Amino acid sequence: MHLEQFPLVQLKKSEHWGRYLVATEDLPPETLILCAEAYSITIFDSFRKRICAAPSCLSESRTKWTIHCSSCDYLYACSAKCFESVLPTHALICPILRKISCMKASQHEKSLLRLSTTVLTMKNYKQTSHVSQPTHSSEVFQLESHLSSWTLSDVNEWKKLCYTLRSMLVEVALMDISESELDLMNLISILER
Ligand SMILES: [Zn+2]
Ligand SMILES: [Zn+2]
Repeated sequence: MHLEQFPLVQLKKSEHWGRYLVATEDLPPETLILCAEAYSITIFDSFRKRICAAPSCLSESRTKWTIHCSSCDYLYACSAKCFESVLPTHALICPILRKISCMKASQHEKSLLRLSTTVLTMKNYKQTSHVSQPTHSSEVFQLESHLSSWTLSDVNEWKKLCYTLRSMLVEVALMDISESELDLMNLISILER
């Protein structure tokens, strides 16, 4: 995202807050400050059956959508069209999503593991059928890591989870063999913010 396009805010940086935005003038309520397309999305476990997984759709239903991927039971879509649009990228990570569901981790941790997986998929498959514009994948990886502010117990917990996820991602070439669980932990620290 190029902030020059959004003159109503200015990027500041401090030791305590990291990077943050400040308004450049008094803003009336409901002013549109900036608008950016989501780079990647993940749906929280408890909502996955009711929110269409196609990033361009995300339609919500009161009851669960019936069209879904039966192998992972994670991907639900509102229509055959939406389902088919996400299938090419989903097929690659479907077994991984299924394994994440079975991992001994909290809902929050599982959501971040899933999000990292989809972010890495987008990085590898920039031009997919459901993305109308090229996504700016490199921008995510340019963001600052917050790994150094993690507690030792967080580091140890994430190390175990990332070690497991890394081997799955290397297997499907979403991570390079030269990349370690530390690279994944850096990505998670970025996504967690
Ligand atoms: Zn849909
Ligand atoms: Zn699946």
